Amino acid sequence: MTKINTRQSNEDGLMAEFEAVIGLETHIQLNTVTKIFCSCKADSWEDPPNMNICPVCAGLPGVLPVLNEAAVSKGARLAAAMHAEIRLISYFDRKNYFYPDLPKGFQISQFDQALGDGGYLDVPMPEGYVRRVNITKLHLEEDAGKTKYDGGRRYVDFNRCGVPLVEMVTEPDLRSADEAAQYLIRLRQLLRWLGVSEADMEKGHLRCDANVSIRPVGSSHLNTKTEIKNVNSIEAVRAAVNMEIERQCVLVQAGDRVESWTLDWDDDRQRLNKMRFKETEADYRYFREPDLPPLLLTEAWRDAVIQDLPELPLERRARFMADFQLPEYDADILTADRPISEYFESTLTAYDGDPKVVSNWIMNEVLRMQNDLGLSADALTLTPEHLAEVIKLVDAGTVNAATGKGLLIKVQESGKTPEAIVAAEGLAQVSDDSALWAVIADLMDVHSEEVANYRDGKESLFGWFMGQVMRQTRGQADPVKTRALLEQALKGE
Ligand code: ADP
Ligand code: ZN
Ligand code: MG
Repeated sequence: MTKINTRQSNEDGLMAEFEAVIGLETHIQLNTVTKIFCSCKADSWEDPPNMNICPVCAGLPGVLPVLNEAAVSKGARLAAAMHAEIRLISYFDRKNYFYPDLPKGFQISQFDQALGDGGYLDVPMPEGYVRRVNITKLHLEEDAGKTKYDGGRRYVDFNRCGVPLVEMVTEPDLRSADEAAQYLIRLRQLLRWLGVSEADMEKGHLRCDANVSIRPVGSSHLNTKTEIKNVNSIEAVRAAVNMEIERQCVLVQAGDRVESWTLDWDDDRQRLNKMRFKETEADYRYFREPDLPPLLLTEAWRDAVIQDLPELPLERRARFMADFQLPEYDADILTADRPISEYFESTLTAYDGDPKVVSNWIMNEVLRMQNDLGLSADALTLTPEHLAEVIKLVDAGTVNAATGKGLLIKVQESGKTPEAIVAAEGLAQVSDDSALWAVIADLMDVHSEEVANYRDGKESLFGWFMGQVMRQTRGQADPVKTRALLEQALKGE
């Protein structure tokens, strides 16, 4: 919770603690193949302007929209995952306004009877508490186009017109910039987990406006808020909201009032610019979209959407902690996305041992290898069964830990099983006493000077001897045994 101490201007000089009040409005681009009301390609990220348009999405007169079922099912899937009711009857409405990027002169949206009703997301905070964020509105709508300035001219690009969006508005339930950032982190995770959006903020798949006000702690009053537009990364939300909270606190401290502004976040300069006084609720003249029938869903369809939901990321995270006694840190990493959490569970099943051991191997070795090689989760030829086999080989002392780690990349690159590689390359650990004795005796012969120095008290040479044994055995000496034998040899006469 952001608490800002500020001296009240009244005479008793009481210190009052202020808290921030934040509500987020997000626009989520659904990853459908085609747009919401026509068959144009939905994702134009790499295409030149105005390539993916048709008479429907460009708003030519006399055309009729046809609703894309995939947009409805993805929107409903998200609503279900947010614990919202899916309305069996919802409506599309026209939101009328004029802007160059809106060729029709209205946006098809859902106003009062939207697809989703209610809902919430429980956001675990790193400090250990959980913030429940309630959802005010969850509805389907079409995106507008883009305009941009270049060389003193203004251009319009209609590619994005008609791209399916879910607009999701939260109650003013967030209490700090960090909470706002965490909400977005968990929302992005959920969207990808469900497969309903790529949720890439840089590409505008997930856009956010942040509404901010402050009030004394303990008050339930909603004070005048400002709205920050154009915050296109999670770090931008954190920075912009923090800056705005501070600005409002300074204002209130000075005895001034917060005015209802719309602010624009300038990410390059990391500062807020005032865009305009917020107009009193613009009159969009909402009315039912006459060209689309009511959206009617059957109970069976709705039940199937709910049935079809996977275990959600935060549920899985909680289960990993409760059932496997994993630390929160591990559970967070192992549920960062669905493929990694499934990889963990499959490995654990194949290994049938301590979950923490599997967690360590995945976090320290597999994820690092994946990262080093730039592999996506589905490009791992190192299967969970392979990984489990490697861990078992190390547990059994067949190979030492270092060889085991090295095996991972060999399996990844050859596609062979760990056991086959160990056999073919003779990687089995040398733990046979007589073989190790032979190596050590030989070493002591060749390096009698170092042996003498060690016996004179230069104990740091022990590590050097260990290293020599490892070298002679190509890293395959059992380190525990080597240590014991080496101690015996060096301390002896
Ligand atoms: P607007 O008048 O801007 O349309 P809404 O009531 O529709 O305001 O709310 C828009 C967003 O602003 C929502 O996310 C809501 O939670 C948030 N919000 C509303 N009032 C406040 C407030 N006083 N402080 C912070 N956020 C607020
Ligand atoms: Zn089109
Ligand atoms: Mg509003």
